Amino acid sequence: MKYYSTNRQAPMATLHEAVVKGLASDKGLYMPEAIKSLPKDFFDEIENLSFQEIAYRVADAFFGEDVPADILKHIVYDTLSFDVPAVRVTDNIYSLELFHGPTLAFKDVGARFMARLLGYFIRQEGKEQVNVLVATSGDTGSAVANGFLGVEGIHVYVLYPKGKVSDIQEKQFTTLGQNITAIEVDGVFDDCQALVKNAFMDKDLNAHMKLTSANSINVARFLPQAFYYFYAYAQMKKEGKADELVICVPSGNFGNITAGLFGKHMGLPVKRFIAANNRNDIFYNYLQTGTYAPKASVATIANAMDVGDPSNFARIIELYHNSHADIKADISGTTYTDEQIRETVSHTYAHTGYLLDPHGACGYRALAEGLQPGEVGVFLETAHPAKFLDTVEGIIHDKVEIPAKLQEFMKGTKQNVPMSKQFADFKEYLLRQ
Ligand SMILES: *Cc1c(COP(=O)(O)O)cnc(C)c1O
Repeated sequence: MKYYSTNRQAPMATLHEAVVKGLASDKGLYMPEAIKSLPKDFFDEIENLSFQEIAYRVADAFFGEDVPADILKHIVYDTLSFDVPAVRVTDNIYSLELFHGPTLAFKDVGARFMARLLGYFIRQEGKEQVNVLVATSGDTGSAVANGFLGVEGIHVYVLYPKGKVSDIQEKQFTTLGQNITAIEVDGVFDDCQALVKNAFMDKDLNAHMKLTSANSINVARFLPQAFYYFYAYAQMKKEGKADELVICVPSGNFGNITAGLFGKHMGLPVKRFIAANNRNDIFYNYLQTGTYAPKASVATIANAMDVGDPSNFARIIELYHNSHADIKADISGTTYTDEQIRETVSHTYAHTGYLLDPHGACGYRALAEGLQPGEVGVFLETAHPAKFLDTVEGIIHDKVEIPAKLQEFMKGTKQNVPMSKQFADFKEYLLRQ
């Protein structure tokens, strides 16, 4: 399969090139040149298949031409070493719990897949070290750092905004050591993302070291996120609740929801999608007006969605041939203030016993407000509530049980490299590595 750039100025790339480069040389995002439909018999029997079996069928449609079947199967099965259950919250609202992986957020899926695929390509290539640069608003850094920890031939630099991620999030990528370096940037997430993007465009740096990205722009992180939409459908079908399925995705950089939209284009019978935003309402405004107007992000309690210029918007535009009407037909939007998020966590906990994290709360609320009669909704519970301990405990006035996996991280010692938001400083640092 060949990959083209959304800006159409860069040459087509192989999967290997697209994964190693991350971003195309014209700053566009890579798109597969074809999106294969999956056959009817797959959907007819999907409820009888395991998560790994379903995921392998989806992975084969994307990567089967480029990765030998046994290797791809191994990568998929190894990546998905944990379940993604659809848990009933109310009769017509289910939570797709994506937080049962090593860092308790959905990004484990894409990060683990990408680490394994990149590792395979590097082994094929020979020895040269690859450096992964990743900007994080919180959960990407931990998922990528843990996904790549100890992988030979790869060094990871995690850039995160100073003071803008929770203690637990920070511990998950600043305590690892080995091939992981955490860089604390004196700025916001968008500054971190800009540093990474500039590094990829810089001639001196690219001559000095081999750089790649593990942000959601990378096809190897982005496409595997489609796996669990199919599995969500399978679980709901088993319950007899998949006829009018609405999937709601708490969205920031829009990688997660775009993978779901790819699933729909492969034939997954989802009636419609909802993109739930916090106060960073750029996509919401686009749906209302047809104009995409990026702006500086604002800090919220759903911090992994604090994005002012969502990267994957370019892929959505591409997927729908720039038709605002077609986009609106498949996706609606919501936007919530911190106060509304708090109210939703508190109210849902009191009335159903289900504890939401601040991101999942946006998803739940959008379904609670927006489902039509006959529809059943699944929202993506993108992280475990304990990752946002102070916020969540402050809302419910109760203790949140911290999973053992998280407690392990808390014991480590934080180590980081302080950095300004000036590209010149970051460049000078990398040139010294
Ligand atoms: C990254 C993240 C999001 C946003 O996902 P995108 O793919 O960037 O839209 C939502 N919730 C949590 C917990 C996240 O970590």
